[in-house]
Amino acid sequence: MIRKSAHKSTKDPASALNPRTTSYEFFGPPGALVVSIVAPLLTFGLSYGCSEKAGGCPGSWLQLPSDFAHAVADPEWWKAQWDPQGFVAYFAWYAFVVIAWAILPGEWVEGLPLRTGERLQYKINALSTLFLTLGAVGGLIWMQGPGSFTYIYDHWIGILTGALCMSLTQATYCYLVSFRPGALLALGGNTGVHNYDWFIGRELNPRIGWLDLKSFNELRPGMMFWLLINVSMACKQAVRRGGRITDSMWLVILFEGFYVVDALYHETALFSTMDIISDGFGFMLSFGDLMWVPFIYSLQARYLAWHPVELGPLWTTVIFALHGLGYYIFRSSNSEKNQFRNGKNPKNRTFMQTKRGTKLLTSGWWGMSRHPNYFGDLILALSWCLPTGFGTPVTYFYFIWFTLLLVHRQRRDDEACHLKYGDDWNEYKKLVPWRIVPGVY
Ligand code: NDP
Repeated sequence: MIRKSAHKSTKDPASALNPRTTSYEFFGPPGALVVSIVAPLLTFGLSYGCSEKAGGCPGSWLQLPSDFAHAVADPEWWKAQWDPQGFVAYFAWYAFVVIAWAILPGEWVEGLPLRTGERLQYKINALSTLFLTLGAVGGLIWMQGPGSFTYIYDHWIGILTGALCMSLTQATYCYLVSFRPGALLALGGNTGVHNYDWFIGRELNPRIGWLDLKSFNELRPGMMFWLLINVSMACKQAVRRGGRITDSMWLVILFEGFYVVDALYHETALFSTMDIISDGFGFMLSFGDLMWVPFIYSLQARYLAWHPVELGPLWTTVIFALHGLGYYIFRSSNSEKNQFRNGKNPKNRTFMQTKRGTKLLTSGWWGMSRHPNYFGDLILALSWCLPTGFGTPVTYFYFIWFTLLLVHRQRRDDEACHLKYGDDWNEYKKLVPWRIVPGVY
């Protein structure tokens, strides 16, 4: 695993509550630096290298960097980057989501106990924010036609740049305020090395007033924007095709839209995830939430906007069935664990009592592999890419990347659980040997 011993400082006020982090992930500070630079470059690279202006998506991965370099060498390209309108539009979108959070009604619920014993309160109104947004966008398209909502397609780079600036600003703000007295730090984000802690996230739950930045960013501005991007891409396709969109575009919009609605509907399930329980909020999450999720995950719809694919009834049914299977595994396994963590066990699953106090499920989904939810998520990911056909490997970027992410994440969680549960985790691993895919991995 990618862990090294962390630097030890004698100056920093590490305390019993906020112990010094003694190991690194992502190959330490150099790795964090590389990811901080490469991930935004890749997002821009995929936007330029795989676009209508670039003549479509390349037929091989190797062509992508050369297409990007070719675009950058053109002086016209630099002129076209200046898009203050798109930039401002992104900030307006962000402000809208914050205002909706503040004014729309929503129940306040408690998260899981922090290591201080305290429980934070979270306002649950992400789904109503989405419905308000979709209502407004749907109304606009209904009244003025698909041409009225191609703005995101037309201002892609300006909007993308706005999202990058927002994620950089938030990561830097959260890093700086984490030095105030009394801040609860993430156990993995207090190494004392600036660039690493800024990247991995130093403070566990940074807040501005009642607004919890980590949970807010996780589900609202990025996830919802992803759906809006897809709708904008469908509008672009419809404009070109006399108002009609292809079956493949329908599948992408429905599948990914369903994923977003489902995540927002199960908003409280967020509070038992690793991001909320153990990760700090730094550039890794602010970039992931605000830039990577909406702008990378929407690549399939963006491709279909200028490269329509007709699947026909057979392939539409096959992909639909694959999606149903993935969703069933993903949702039922996550719900089973979430219910169990909240004291319910309706199917009488067997479990293991640990010395730490919490229990671990050992049958049902969680007896088949240590992350059955990741398995379901991977099947879903494949079903989102298949509608783009096989004309280019680039539209499968999401599936490839997501496989790497979940393999890495499973290993991180295994280590975190080992720290939390000690020998009990080894015992659990003997009972449930498969990591993600039962019988395979
Ligand atoms: P999990 O929801 O799997 O949570 C892991 C935690 O669950 C462990 O740390 C442990 O915490 C608890 N746990 C582990 N085994 C058991 C068990 N047998 N019984 C009860 N509790 C157990 O991981 P994530 O937070 O990574 O993922 C949540 C969902 O989000 C997944 O479906 C994943 O696919 C999805 N995801 C999606 C991403 C995307 O970009 N689309 C990115 C990352 C995740 P403890 O014991 O302390 O409660």
